[in-house]
Parts: sequence; C-alpha cells; structure tokens
Amino acid sequence: MLESGAGDTQEGHACPRPPAPREYALVQHRYTLLEHVGDPHEWRFTWAINDDVTLNSTCGFCHRTGLRLTYEVIRGCEALWICQSCVGRYPIGADIDGDQMSPTAARAYVHGLTARLKQQTCKDIIHRVKDSWSDADIEEVAVYFDRNLQLSPQRAARLFSTLVEMGEETNARVFEVQTRSNAHQQEFGELAEADRRLVWIALSPQQRRRLASLGFAPAGTLVRRPPRMALRLSAPRMPALTEAASINPKRKL
Ligand SMILES: [Zn+2]
Repeated sequence: MLESGAGDTQEGHACPRPPAPREYALVQHRYTLLEHVGDPHEWRFTWAINDDVTLNSTCGFCHRTGLRLTYEVIRGCEALWICQSCVGRYPIGADIDGDQMSPTAARAYVHGLTARLKQQTCKDIIHRVKDSWSDADIEEVAVYFDRNLQLSPQRAARLFSTLVEMGEETNARVFEVQTRSNAHQQEFGELAEADRRLVWIALSPQQRRRLASLGFAPAGTLVRRPPRMALRLSAPRMPALTEAASINPKRKL
C-alpha cells in the first residue's frame, strides 16, 4: 500500500490527523461519508491509484474495507485514499493541468486510468511468472494476454496452476477470464475439475451463475442468487470495470 502522507504535520500547516480506526466503528456498516471528510467538493483527485492485490485497503471517505483499488484525493495538505463507490457517488474536484473537468468527465478519466492500471498489474504478474518459470505454455499465455488483455479459461487454468506452484494463488483473483462467447463457455466446461476450481476464483458472480446454469460449476461450489432488492443509489456509479477497455495513455487536454 502506498503511503498517502495524510496528516503529516509540517511547519505552517495544521492538518488534523483523521480519526483512529476504532472511531469509525459506528458508521462502518452504513458507508456514509465520515464526519472529517466534510464536503466532497472540497477534495480533488491527484489521479494516483493504488492497486492492492492483497485486498487490504480501506476507504478514507466511507471506511469500506477489503478494497483492491483506491484513489487518492487531497484537500489542502490532507490526503485520503477512497473507494470506487465514493469516486462514483461524490462530485470530487477534478482537473488536468488546471483545466476543470465535469464529474462525468472525471469518472470517465478515472475509469480509463483504472482499466490501464489493472491491466498493468496483470501483465506484471504474468511476466514475473514467465521470467521465473521457463515454460512454453506460460510464454503463450503472456503473448495471449498482451494481445487480448484477458485470459481464455484454458490459459487462465495454465497460469493459475503455475501461481499455485509458486505459492501465489491469491493473485489469480486479479485476472479477468473470458466467458462471454459459447466457445469460451465450452472451453471452461471442458477443463478438468481441478482446473475449473482454479479458474472459478477469478470469475464474477454473474460469470459463475452463467457457467453454473450450463452445468459447469465445480462440484461443491455454491452459486449465490442475485439479491432480490437492488440498492438504489442517488447518483450514477462508475460503470463496472469488467470490460477490457481500450486506453489512450495520453491525457486529453
Ligand atoms: Zn468509500
């Protein structure tokens, strides 16, 4: 986890430290703005994003825990790392080189940066595996990922079984596996039971439900039904990051 430097006391600045975690306890389950945050308008993005593959980050706005992705926002000399829900929910200030962006443009920009970072995280893992495991199959997986930015079920199984051998199986969760086409669904169904179990780790609840409906769920896995009542949010949320986005690395001015 990157250090935000929040609350550092410097000469001439009076930045109060955020409350200690136990003070969050009363609001933790509601995911409302914590009191010290004040008006979200007063904060602005630095465009720094942290990808915590250990899923141990916490939101400085709502104290949601167990997060992978957090986004840095600053107010004066204070800095907080906040979750995707808060990014989508609050009109946080956004500019690039002083040019103000609308909340919609800011969310789109965050979406692009996030997709690029997630892809880079996956790429780094695959290339690290490739470098420490000279294996033609893994080289092919790396080539495939570089081209598609996702893994087919069969390639995911190959990579994940190597991650298990390396003792890094939790990294499997960060990958996206293609299951939309019939061909990929059948490819999943044709995997050995142990491989389907490995790939299952990286699948979203929607993907699991679809594959389970085809009879491809690994034995003994529970597939949860979607909740009956959808939570209504007052503001549009950032679209789910399930697509391999095409990224323009240049900042648009
Ligand atoms: Zn949050």
